[in-house]
Parts: sequence; C-alpha cells; structure tokens
Amino acid sequence: MAKGKINVSVENIFPLIKKFLYSDHEIFLRELISNATDATLKLKHLTAIGEAKVEYGNPQIEIKVDKDNKKIHIIDQGIGMTEEEVKKYINEVAFSGAEEFLDKYKDAGKDAGIIGHFGLGFYSAFMVAEKVEIITKSFKEEPAVHWSCDGSPQFELKKAKKEDRGTEIVLHVAEDSTEFLEDARIRELLTKYNKFMPIPIKFGTKEINDPEHEPKTTKDKDGKETTEPHRQLTVDDIINNPNPAWTKKPAELKEEDYKGFYRELYPMQFEEPLFNIHLNVDYPFNLTGILYFPKLTNDLNIQKDKIQLYQNQVFVTDNVEGIVPEFLTMLRGVIDSPDIPLNVSRSYLQADGAVKKISSYITKKVADKLSSLFKNNREDFEQKWNDIKVVIEYGMLSEDKFFEKADKFALYPTVDGTFYTFEELETKIKDNQTDKDDKMVILYASDQEAQHSYIEAAKAKGYEVLLLDSPIVPHLMQKLETSKEKISFARVDADHLDNLIKKEDTAISKLSDEEKEKLKGEIEKVIDPKSGFTVQLEAMDSSAQPFIITEPEFMRRMKDMQQTGGGGGMFGMGNMPDMFNLIVNTNNELVSEILNTKTAKKRERLINQSLDLARLSKGLLKGEELTNFINRSYEMIK
Ligand code: ADP
Repeated sequence: MAKGKINVSVENIFPLIKKFLYSDHEIFLRELISNATDATLKLKHLTAIGEAKVEYGNPQIEIKVDKDNKKIHIIDQGIGMTEEEVKKYINEVAFSGAEEFLDKYKDAGKDAGIIGHFGLGFYSAFMVAEKVEIITKSFKEEPAVHWSCDGSPQFELKKAKKEDRGTEIVLHVAEDSTEFLEDARIRELLTKYNKFMPIPIKFGTKEINDPEHEPKTTKDKDGKETTEPHRQLTVDDIINNPNPAWTKKPAELKEEDYKGFYRELYPMQFEEPLFNIHLNVDYPFNLTGILYFPKLTNDLNIQKDKIQLYQNQVFVTDNVEGIVPEFLTMLRGVIDSPDIPLNVSRSYLQADGAVKKISSYITKKVADKLSSLFKNNREDFEQKWNDIKVVIEYGMLSEDKFFEKADKFALYPTVDGTFYTFEELETKIKDNQTDKDDKMVILYASDQEAQHSYIEAAKAKGYEVLLLDSPIVPHLMQKLETSKEKISFARVDADHLDNLIKKEDTAISKLSDEEKEKLKGEIEKVIDPKSGFTVQLEAMDSSAQPFIITEPEFMRRMKDMQQTGGGGGMFGMGNMPDMFNLIVNTNNELVSEILNTKTAKKRERLINQSLDLARLSKGLLKGEELTNFINRSYEMIK
C-alpha cells in the first residue's frame, strides 16, 4: 500500500473546490460521466487502430445509487488506469490525461470525440462527496488499483481485486449533498446533461412488454373476450440516445426524423416545428446542430432559452446568448461545438474570434434556408409567414448581413391576403402611390378591424393597404425608410388620404375662407378642449366622410416603438398623451348643413353626433360617452 500527498500548489484545494469553483454542484455527475465516456471512447479508438488487443464489445456506463450506504457509483468499461496512470493523472491535479491522449493521437479528437478538458473534471466529485474511491483496471495486463481520498490532500493507493477492465468511481456523499442520493434527482441530472452522450448510460432497470410474446385472447362460454396481460421483461434502463439526429448527416435523415428529434428534445411541446435547419461545418471551426423554427406568438420574451448548447454531445447550457445572434435565440434546437470556450464570461465570449465566426455562420445558414424555402415553395412560405415574421423582421433590424439577404424574401402582406416582396410591392404601387414630391407612400394598417373604415377609404382610391401587425414592425419601417430611397410608411389613419399621398390636383373647396373660419369656430366651441383634438378643415371628395379622426404617423410610431423597447428615438415619449386630429371635410354636405344651421342647439347636436360617429369609427368612444351616444341615437330615430 502506498501513501502520498496529492500534488497541488494550494495546500487545501478541496474546500476551495467545494465553495467557489462551481456554484452548480450538480455538474459533478456530468464531469464524471464525461470522464467515463472519454475512457470508453479512448478504448474504442485504440482497438480500432490496433493498439489495444482487446475486445471492445458493447460497453456501457452504469450509475448506481446506494441510498442506505450513502454512495453513488459510476462504473465504466473503458480504458482504465494503471497504477502509474493514477499517480500521474489523478494525483497531479491539473494534469490532463485527455490532453496527453489527444497530443499523442492527433486525429483522435475529431474521430473519437474525446471530451477532455471540460471543467474541473474528476475533482468536482469533492463538491458532493466527503470521500472518493477509484477502483480501476487498465486494458493493459496490469493489476487493478484502488485509490481513495477523504477530501484532505492525503490519498491512499493499494492493489485491488477488480477483474474486468474499466473504472469504478465511488462517491461517499457528504451530509450537505444527500439530495443526490435520491433516484429522481439523479435521473433529472442524467436527462439534463447526458441525454445524448455517445456511450449508453444505464440507470437501473425498467419493465417493458416482451416483444416475443403475443398476448392470447380467449372467449369464455358467454362469448366474452379476455386478453391475457403482456408478459413483462426487465431490461436495463438506458437513459440516453447515443446517436442523436444532429450527429448524423443530413442525407441520412428524413423529415420524420427531424420531427421525431424535436419531440425528443421538447417532450412537453405539442406543436410541430415549422421547419428545420441542419448545421454542419468542420472548417474553420467544428459545429453541428439542428435548429427549428417554432410557431411564435407575439410575446418575444418567454420564448428564449430553448436552444441547447452541447460539446461533443454533453449538455452545457441552454443560454446561447453571445453564441447565437440575438434574433435567433427565439429558435429551438441544438448546437454542438467543441470550439466554444466554456467557463468564460459572456463578454469575453462575444469578443472571441471563433465564436464570432460561429455566429455569422449560423446567421448565414438561416438566411440561406429561408431563401430556399421562399424560392422552392412560395405558397408554403407565405402560409408560414405569420409564424416566422417576428424572427425575420428582428433579424433584418439587428444584422445588416441578414437584412441584405432577407430583403429579397421578406414579405409584406396586404389586408386582402396578397403577399408581396418589397420589390413586387414597389412595382405594384409606384405609379398610384407616389406623391407630388416623388415619394412612394406605403399605406398600412395594424388592425384590420379597428381601422376598417380607413382601409375601405384607401381601397376606394385604388391604394394597396398592407397589414403590418408584428410588435417590432414600426422599427423595421424606420429602418426601411432610411435604407431605401424616397419611401415612407403611413398608417391608414395617420391623416386623410389626400394628405397622406399628396397629389397636385387638390380638390376645390366649396366654402369660402370666411365660411371656413366660422365653421372652425363653431366646431371648436362644441368640442371639449380637454379631448385634445386639433380641428383641421380639408376640402376633400364630397363622398368622403364629414368628420375623420386621424393620428399623426410620427408621434404614434415613436410611441409604438418605445413600447417594444429600444430606440424610440425620442426620450420619454411613452408618457405623452395620444394625439389626434379632427379632420372636417368642407365639401361634405353634412358639413355645409352644420354651417348653415341657424339654431345653436341643433348645430351643437349635429357636431356632437358627427364627432361621436368619427370617434366610434376610430374606436375611441367608450364608457359613459358611448352610453350617451347610444341613448341620443335612439332618441333621434324615434
Ligand atoms: P480531464 O478529463 O479534463 O483530463 P480530469 O481531472 O477529469 O481531467 O481527469 C484527469 C485524467 O484522469 C483524465 O484525463 C484521464 O486520463 C484520467 N481519468 C479520469 N477518469 C477516468 C476514467 N473513468 N477512466 C480512465 N481514466 C480516467
């Protein structure tokens, strides 16, 4: 038996490990299973190249919880360690056998998928254990060894009886970590971190229906049928899928496989993904993965943190901020790359060259996929548009490279359900919707019901009205207005149409200046100054409505933008009251009637009623005022 001192520069590293190195104690299991996986993959590599003359077989890793004796066992059938190796790799903290292996077998990293330096590795066991034992037998013809350590820098090393190749780690779980003696907790950790690791991981057994057994159905004398129960079979409970979809080549996978994998990733998610993007590069960095476009709702925040980041099939985190561009964090799926530095701060991560390349690769792949969906099946793309537009619009806003590509496939739906690309829209409306200053005005509605009368008025003039209702679209309009020449967006209720798209030939007013002056005075006398309406007289088509309430584009859009956060442009706009104009059509007959009415009382009634109708059509008439309006209207039709 040998006794010795673990070679660490800090005298008492263990309290340190326990306290500071990881806030997440639970990762100990991931670290130990990673080591067991590495040990198995190393053996696989060595047998494959003929350096290990042993049978590789079908090795698995077993996790056992012994609650009564407060122990956890992690058992592998991998490469094992000789006494020399234990001394070197275990006793010299920070000396990595994985690194040395990769140095020696240069191509093993990629081919064998050795996990290697992942975190603190083996010593993270001391976060939850007061004593740790290693019983290990190398694949080489050497006796097994038994190492143990009680958390002080003193260790013990002796011969062991173990006959079969591999390593067993025994954790004597500390008093403050007994949660890890619960089967349910261990199962939770296994599904979180190890669900897709490459070597089968056994945790207990489970009962299944025996596939060999066909239950017999018998009829009793009354003709009643009974089927005997399925014969049960006890089998190893393998908690992982060692060959997840993303590790396969796209050509090997069918649509159904992608959908199946989505269900595997998100068992609680019942909605099917809209489409997927298979990521696969090995130069200048290694990255595989599958991203899915889910159906999105308008609530952007709750949908983040669904992409899972793996390194060599080991789960790392579901916070991919900094690795995946912000606008794609709403997607789901898996990214697996050994080239993403872990355990570094997010700001460092964002500055890292490899990570930057990864992020722009992902952006490009997503843009290319969308572009090919658009080109190959436009109809389907249009159908999905409402579910994917938020991501695309967000991407166009935040990534210029993405904007360039997406500008060709981003769609602008009209209220009638036609979908135009920007270019198509331009061709369609340029002639009719360019104003006298040569600016093309794009009309839109944000709510088809609420803005119905305004939409109808625009359609009557032969204008196209888009339906733009996603929460970030005001920001996108702003961007389009600055990046494209001579265009502007205007919501249909932003002003009267003749003002929104000003043409040379303005209608001639039926009223003289004097009459207008008088009319304006009368109306202002009646409407409540607190209501905030600015009265504006306009000579419009006689068939256009007499009173129209409008909401100037600029202020409203700034407020909308501030609501969805980020650069509304103007400080404190969120607290500004809404601004409305009351446009009075001086060419409408009713307006003439208001002007010519002799009795003040009748005039007041006409004005009030017209104003209420205008407010009603803008959705502004509510509460007591609405009740009064209804009562008054009943009086009138009596
Ligand atoms: P790393 O895995 O990053 O090298 P660890 O501290 O986890 O660091 O492990 C140190 C070394 O101990 C490993 O590189 C490996 O050589 C050896 N080792 C650890 N666990 C096992 C195991 N289950 N089987 C064989 N060797 C192991």
